[in-house]
Amino acid sequence: MQTGSGCRARILLLGGTYEARMLAERIAREPDMEGLVSLAGRTNAPLSHDLPLRIGGFGGVDGLIRYLTASKISHVIDATHPFAAEISLNAQKASDFLGLPFLTFTRQPWRPVPGDRWVEVQDMVSAITALGVAPQRVFLGVGRQAAANFRHAPQHSYLLRIIDPPQNKELPLQCEIIVGRGPFALKDELALLQEHKINVVVSKNSGGEIGYTKIVAARELGLEVIMISPPKYQSKSVAYDYDTVMKFLAA
Ligand code: NAP
Repeated sequence: MQTGSGCRARILLLGGTYEARMLAERIAREPDMEGLVSLAGRTNAPLSHDLPLRIGGFGGVDGLIRYLTASKISHVIDATHPFAAEISLNAQKASDFLGLPFLTFTRQPWRPVPGDRWVEVQDMVSAITALGVAPQRVFLGVGRQAAANFRHAPQHSYLLRIIDPPQNKELPLQCEIIVGRGPFALKDELALLQEHKINVVVSKNSGGEIGYTKIVAARELGLEVIMISPPKYQSKSVAYDYDTVMKFLAA
């Protein structure tokens, strides 16, 4: 497919992940490809990318269809986080509507290995239930928005790690905040969990390398992990590695 500018592909890369940044780097190196990265605008200071950035929602499927048409996009790559189900579904619907090549670039979920003490649950509500009634010291590795759910279990005390300091007060009552952006070294994760006397970790099963060291640290310390499964969104076309995405774009 030739785009109006003479490039073979004009790509909309839906981002918000480490993998999207790395993919942007690969695409930017290709002389016959151009593109831009779209972020939702959830963080105050987005990291720089090797492709131009656009920030903010599109306005649902209809808004995305309008955007793709106006921007003369030829290919859509969904490299959003595995838990960002709404934008993924919207992107697939809008691409299907316009007949654009669409690919989901995602991570394989983590699988338990010997030594892991996982309780696998389907959603946040089940994660809260799995914490039980007795007070616990909980490390929340679920992000700012999801952390609000844990207000419903005020008997526990929480350590929440987030990228930006919280703007709202909708956090659990006993909630200590640490601000940080991964990757985190294993030795630091071990120290953090020990210093804060954490006895259970709650994590989204996000897959990938960036967030995995806290899972390894929990294993080494013999801690239970309440592991929340990704939403059951099925993309019609999925890649798990950079080379497959680049071949798809070059085809
Ligand atoms: P979501 O629930 O799937 O999307 C909600 C709405 O946010 C979408 O309908 C869309 O608004 C807008 N949106 C989401 N991602 C967008 C993007 N890349 N570019 C433009 N608009 C976007 O998404 P979410 O779970 O809130 O995640 C938001 C962003 O944070 C994603 O880019 C994701 O990669 C990143 N992120 C999410 C998580 C997580 O755990 N969910 C973790 C790390 C990073 P309109 O309908 O108006 O288009």
